[in-house]
Amino acid sequence: MGTVTSQGAIGEVAHVLRSYVEHQRELGVLGYPPADRRPAPVAASARPAPRATPTPAPPEEPAPLPSAARPTSGDLFAGDLVRTRTLEELRREIGDCRRCKLAPHRTHLVFGVGNPRARLVFVGEAPGRDEDLQGEPFVGRAGQLLTEIIQKGMKLRRADVYIANVIKCRPPDNRNPEPDEVASCEPFLLRQLELIGPEVIVALGKFAAQALLQTKTPITQLRGRWYDYHGIRLMPTFHPAYLLRNPGDKRLVWEDIQKVMRALGIGGAPA
Ligand code: URA
Repeated sequence: MGTVTSQGAIGEVAHVLRSYVEHQRELGVLGYPPADRRPAPVAASARPAPRATPTPAPPEEPAPLPSAARPTSGDLFAGDLVRTRTLEELRREIGDCRRCKLAPHRTHLVFGVGNPRARLVFVGEAPGRDEDLQGEPFVGRAGQLLTEIIQKGMKLRRADVYIANVIKCRPPDNRNPEPDEVASCEPFLLRQLELIGPEVIVALGKFAAQALLQTKTPITQLRGRWYDYHGIRLMPTFHPAYLLRNPGDKRLVWEDIQKVMRALGIGGAPA
């Protein structure tokens, strides 16, 4: 009799747990991957949300973070997004997006490019003119510099990594993206990152770093240190467009990139 009762209780607990996990999936919570997905290379366990006020870890160690308010992936798109299983499906789900006021201005929606299983993802701000015309991120002057960093600095091919932006459509006259535009677009980036499952994200520039880490801390203070983004190591560094204006700071970006290379165990970057 006691056994029947405790089996009933276990069944009840299992039911509650199952419902909870399903609910988290519905909300699009990172760390609740779809059942048929390969295990993420970094986070076998649930990915904690980024800190609202990031605390930098010691240089080579990702910070263990308590859970905090997660970004906006639990919005009205998340139910559909969480059903996408590949980047192609996610792209189809986004479709001819009209969800924010950038849509009428764009030529192309710039989804992202690269290896869908990349260990390293670069995240920039938003497409510029060249990117809008070509439909690919980082193909203008700043993009050429990023490509040099990847190819000459890291000795990787562009196709080995994945490149995306916080915002997928070009803001008119390259103005800064506005909060409602970020809110509309960010769930897509979150799902993209979850589907790729990289080991390291490099946030390029103030906007990407502040948006991903949900902070207003200046990039000069953020860069060069490891943060935790849903269980993925995140390294903020200066944006290549900033480097075009301030080439003296290339040295600092190279230092940051060497930390990334060490974390990935590539290129024999000096310890
Ligand atoms: N700057 C960005 O942040 N992203 C691009 O794709 C191009 C320039």
